[in-house]
Amino acid sequence: MRTVAVVGASLAGLSAARSLRKQGYDGRLVVIGDELHRPYDRPPLSKEFLSGSLAEADLALEPDGEDLRVQWLLGVRAVGLDGPQRAVRLADGSEVRADGVVIATGAAARTLPGTDGLTGVHTLRTLDDARALRDELALGGRLVVIGGGFIGAEVASTAYALGLDVTVVEAAPTPLAGPLGETMGGIVSALHTDHGVRLLCGVGVKGLSGRSRVDAVLLEDGRSIPADIVVVGVGARPCVEWLAGSGIALADGVTCGADGRTSLAGVVAVGDCASWYDPRAGLHRRVEHWTGARERPDAAVTALLAGGAVEPGAPRPPYFWSDQYGVKIQFAGHAAGADSVTIEEGARDDHNVLAVYRRSGHPVAVLGMNQPRLFTRWRKQLAAAA
Ligand SMILES: Cc1cc2nc3c(=O)[nH]c(=O)nc-3n(C[C@H](O)[C@H](O)[C@H](O)COP(=O)(O)OP(=O)(O)OC[C@H]3O[C@@H](n4cnc5c(N)ncnc54)[C@H](O)[C@@H]3O)c2cc1C
Repeated sequence: MRTVAVVGASLAGLSAARSLRKQGYDGRLVVIGDELHRPYDRPPLSKEFLSGSLAEADLALEPDGEDLRVQWLLGVRAVGLDGPQRAVRLADGSEVRADGVVIATGAAARTLPGTDGLTGVHTLRTLDDARALRDELALGGRLVVIGGGFIGAEVASTAYALGLDVTVVEAAPTPLAGPLGETMGGIVSALHTDHGVRLLCGVGVKGLSGRSRVDAVLLEDGRSIPADIVVVGVGARPCVEWLAGSGIALADGVTCGADGRTSLAGVVAVGDCASWYDPRAGLHRRVEHWTGARERPDAAVTALLAGGAVEPGAPRPPYFWSDQYGVKIQFAGHAAGADSVTIEEGARDDHNVLAVYRRSGHPVAVLGMNQPRLFTRWRKQLAAAA
């Protein structure tokens, strides 16, 4: 291979560039990203960076002195992929022809229809989003977070610590029931109410009110929640529109084999935009977690460089963490499909629980709240059993 193009200049793209060099690829390496920034870390955007305790310079994912011999094309969007030619078309009219392509375009925050144009309304995905939200939170006031998922919960927790009056609105009866199941979703989301943050569940949002600036969130049951700032945290969608017409298989993101290979030869996909096949479960899964975006590019690059001649190993159980109200939440495995969940250690009222999810008696997932040592032991056990 003489040229590899990586599309997406964030964690998964940078990890792929590192894997390429580590695995001996010596040719031209072009990384294309639509943000102007060099790769930076997103998890602190809802935590330490948002609270002001971490500086922007500390978000950098590249250590000083790292030289991957990359040609960076930043601030330019990829708008198309010519599959057979493996040519990436860019918004400025140019194109990058490559022998191998790594798709790492991640995900973008979903928005609520009808919320455009009102100031005081935010989503949180990028550094620019976080800067804007941080500046507003610093002024204080009433924050309404729409969506009780992880990003929404972390923003609520950070804003609470900054002294804002916070309300979280969640359409589902129990926040986090999707990733954690009903029981543990309820226990984790009780962190809000334990800290005096209002949590309104089982009610949808009808719209927002305000002339030029938002002043309230209108709920479907007729209530109006006064707001100076609104954060819409209703999930993310994979950034794959640019691949329409390329012939690549898309479903929920880019459909990949168990090693990141796509339906197009010489093209792999990694990170939040990629839906990898899980041979154990017999289905495709797209995971939006830091650790997957960091680790999986190794296998994808191996497959890319070998032209697919390598037998892929089974992926490690997915892992993510979240920090809320001073509690470290860690989760590994898949809650869906578990037929029982038991608290093995700790007490929910002390926020230091270790819970194990089982299917037919076999552990399939583990959740820790402030239980890092025990959690690590269980996570290793899960990986060994995989
Ligand atoms: C606020 C926040 C907090 C988080 N906290 C945690 C946490 O605590 N724990 C955890 O496990 N995970 C967390 N995550 C998730 C984690 O950050 C992601 O899983 C990770 O960033 C995925 O990396 P990625 O490179 O696949 O995608 P991204 O980081 O989304 O990067 C994709 C890049 O591609 C660019 N791009 C998109 N389309 C194009 C295009 N057409 N052309 C060129 N460039 C394009 C995007 O602008 C972006 O720069 C958090 C995410 C956010 C937003």
